[in-house]
Amino acid sequence: MPRCQRHFRCTGSRTISVRHSSWEAPALSNTRHTKVLIIGSGPAGYTAAVYASRAMLEPLLVQGVQPGGQLMITTDVENWPGESNILGPGLMANMEEHARAVGTEVVSDHVQSLDLSCRPFRANGDAGTVYTADTVILATGAQARWLGLASEEAFKGFGVSACATCDGFFFRGQDVVVVGGGNTAVEEALFLTNFATRVTLVHRRDALRADKILQHRLFRHEKIEVLWDHTLDEVLGTEDPKAVEGVRVKHVRTGQVSTVPCKGVFIAIGHTPSNELVKDSLELHSGGYAVTAPDSTATSVPGVFAAGDITDHVYRQAVTSAGMGCMAALEAERFLAEQGRDAEIAAE
Ligand code: FAD
Ligand code: NAP
Repeated sequence: MPRCQRHFRCTGSRTISVRHSSWEAPALSNTRHTKVLIIGSGPAGYTAAVYASRAMLEPLLVQGVQPGGQLMITTDVENWPGESNILGPGLMANMEEHARAVGTEVVSDHVQSLDLSCRPFRANGDAGTVYTADTVILATGAQARWLGLASEEAFKGFGVSACATCDGFFFRGQDVVVVGGGNTAVEEALFLTNFATRVTLVHRRDALRADKILQHRLFRHEKIEVLWDHTLDEVLGTEDPKAVEGVRVKHVRTGQVSTVPCKGVFIAIGHTPSNELVKDSLELHSGGYAVTAPDSTATSVPGVFAAGDITDHVYRQAVTSAGMGCMAALEAERFLAEQGRDAEIAAE
């Protein structure tokens, strides 16, 4: 049971503190209330923070275990408007500075559990802080799935990537490998033909699960070859300079091992939305992404908004996440204004 359910009884918008014999009330300084609680410090979270701060909502942003989000694990970002070439960590440092400069309180903590059944909403931080909030902007992002190889880890950012849209440009005139057989892998392979000389799609079965239309495009593309029934066993490369030189692949039935020379390796075996906090409280779609209303960031719980990769299985870009962060803050502002009006009418 989430800790706050033990600590508080929720009665609509009122909350009554309940004293149990075995429980001690948290110290006052350990309970923080905010009009807007932003969970996550990627582009969606920081953009929501900038907008909510400028609306004088004094938001509180909890950074999580990956301050700055996914862009912290990449090098060059070349598709953030206004910055033709910036490093991922530099871009995220700028966003954090911007959010702080306009008045966001940025907290180094991780939300362990979130109770959306009570008003105000309640979040428990790892460090023991209880955050109560009139609205929540969920910006917890997603994590690319990886194969889990030591060599894959070693060459991440040095030829191994999980984002062709982001990194494909660096492989102009070179050979690349894509791993996976779903829509993402096929789209990534097709996209990479814009830069690469040759794209080899390595798939562990003899059939793709990607949409037929994408398969059709893939099969007739002269730059793409499919290596069926193979798994990627190891990423091969040099240490100095640190660079990928190829991959070792294995046939799943014969066990025969071979090498595919390449300079880039794109792992496209799916993404996992970071939905742990809301998997039982918000409506999710099949892949576990938070459902939002059309043209909105409103989730199935009024007052809770979702922005960025936690809700987006299609675009998964920094700029689209930031756009959704903006929408979420504007919608939170409207929600609070409506709640205020309702309260005034009720009081009359
Ligand atoms: P994320 O960036 O995923 O951030 C999620 C945040 O939520 C993190 O700060 C995390 O700490 C926090 N969080 C999670 N759970 C909790 C919790 N329980 N409590 C508190 N906080 C929590 N996109 C581009 O546009 N251009 C690129 O060049 C590009 N390069 C990329 C390179 C790589 C290697 C990867 C993996 C992705 C790349 N992307 C790129 C995609 C881009 O990074 C994402 O689309 C974007 O970061 C999503 O932003 P977000 O704010 O939704 O979430
Ligand atoms: P996905 O559909 O889950 O496909 C993942 C692929 O990776 C599968 O082919 C799977 O192989 C393979 N795979 C998984 N784990 C692996 C491992 N450990 N080693 C080797 N291969 C592995 O994921 P996705 O392609 O990212 O798509 C996710 C969702 O987004 C889907 O619903 C998809 O339709 C949607 N999407 C849609 C579009 C679009 O409509 N244009 C674009 C992108 C994504 P098996 O086939 O053998 O299981």
